[in-house]
Amino acid sequence: MSKLPLLPINVAGQWLLGKGEEYESLYPATGEPVARLRAAGVQDVNEAVAGADHAFRTSGWAQMLPHVRAGVLHRVAALIRERSEELAQLQRQDNGKPISETRALVASAAGTFQFFAAALETLEGTITPSRGPYVTMSVHEPMGVVAAITPWNSPIASEAQKLAPALAAGNAVIVKPAEVTPLLALELAKICEAAGVPKGIVSVLPGKGSVIGDALTKHPLIKRVSFTGGTTTGKHIAHIAADKMMPVSLELGGKSATMVLEDADLDHAVNGVLYGIFSSSGESCIAGSRLFVARGIYDAFVARLAEAAKNLRVGDPASERTQMGPLITARHREGIERYVDLGVSEGGRIRTGGVRPQGGAFDKGYFYTPTILEGLTNSARITQEEIFGPVLVAMPFDTEDELIAQANDSIYALAAGVWSRDFKRAWRTGRAVQAGTVWINTYKQFSVSTPFGGWRDSGLGREKGREGIFQYMEQKSMYWGTNEEPIAWAN
Ligand code: NAD
Repeated sequence: MSKLPLLPINVAGQWLLGKGEEYESLYPATGEPVARLRAAGVQDVNEAVAGADHAFRTSGWAQMLPHVRAGVLHRVAALIRERSEELAQLQRQDNGKPISETRALVASAAGTFQFFAAALETLEGTITPSRGPYVTMSVHEPMGVVAAITPWNSPIASEAQKLAPALAAGNAVIVKPAEVTPLLALELAKICEAAGVPKGIVSVLPGKGSVIGDALTKHPLIKRVSFTGGTTTGKHIAHIAADKMMPVSLELGGKSATMVLEDADLDHAVNGVLYGIFSSSGESCIAGSRLFVARGIYDAFVARLAEAAKNLRVGDPASERTQMGPLITARHREGIERYVDLGVSEGGRIRTGGVRPQGGAFDKGYFYTPTILEGLTNSARITQEEIFGPVLVAMPFDTEDELIAQANDSIYALAAGVWSRDFKRAWRTGRAVQAGTVWINTYKQFSVSTPFGGWRDSGLGREKGREGIFQYMEQKSMYWGTNEEPIAWAN
């Protein structure tokens, strides 16, 4: 272990050393430690939840007038913006993404707080048509203490996506960031505190998912879990939730299809496909990792794509010019290498990449080259299983029907991309493909005002959008009697 000072975690507003094991967050570009901390232990979970429940009941956060609570969230957004460069640099070190990407994630986190402040301030109950001597209303109430469990691939943005609507709704929130990327969630807790969120309303418990995440999910006072991560973990959480009769939202894995039709604008399609799979080093749930290209343009398109992939600038995440940084951990890179070997053993040919870049800084960090495989079918294991790395499988298709059948032949259904200049075909294809999000002539664009989530094994529920706030609220119907006389039945 390094000599870095031990970082405290946040247990119901108290900054203290966790009761779990000591560990380090490593900079994936060099393998050097960025921070040293003690993970949360189960005792911390119990104390955080009890403290959060107390704060929920006594701090006045839930009862604060909407425009006043929204004001606190606007201050969170402003403080994130004030510290944006510092946060982006910290995120780069914690996670290894290129600085251009971490700046965008920090900006998106600020935008998310701003959006949900506005959603809160404009939130309305409804007066429903009355069917008797009463006025009927539908209103929403906060749930209590909710848990936000996040993965390592887009810290601060993932946490904000859950924390902002959950706080806007008036809840207390326990954030469980991924073990390997704890730093931005901890900074977010400091920012919430400085913005005026009452003590105890936000806790941040870094640590092992199988210990902390599990204990949180099972805790009887946790009223909802909002989870982003792998499908296997998501299903495990769903089982626990079923036993507790607890609602969950699950943003899970993907194996998204990108479809290039013969009339596509090829300049746009090449750039979009590259960005869709290789940005974030492919460590993205919505990575367009299955590429279907019309047979007539297949050879020319894949030749251009492979050339462009070869020229992507892989390297130092601190450089403004870098397009692809390292992978998150040495272990994750080994997993990706095993998948590429499997693809070759299944009959695939490596068109480009498939190796670690060599020499200098490359030898210390967890780098891998942008990789394209060909010669496989949609039923190959590496075309069906999520790799979560910079690996694309390219396949030709002949007819529209065959294309749709293959695109939909996946346990996942998170996202898809369609490239075509024929607006009718693009529309038809976009409607026929089964996915939570479809991009037409663009890819991997995000807007907090547009709902996001997956079908099938890609998840349950939707985040973002004005309705995103309702995930963290219970709906209540109210009947307000207007009878002048007592209810006749009891006479
Ligand atoms: P993961 O499932 O291993 O971990 C996600 C989070 O869950 C982490 O905080 C982890 O500590 C915690 N966790 C692990 N075991 C747990 C348990 N038993 N109970 C409760 N919590 C537990 O996923 P990961 O490797 O961190 O992230 C990669 C995965 O996330 C990929 O599958 C990716 O597609 C998915 N992802 C999905 C989205 C989306 O919005 N759909 C976004 C980003 C990532």
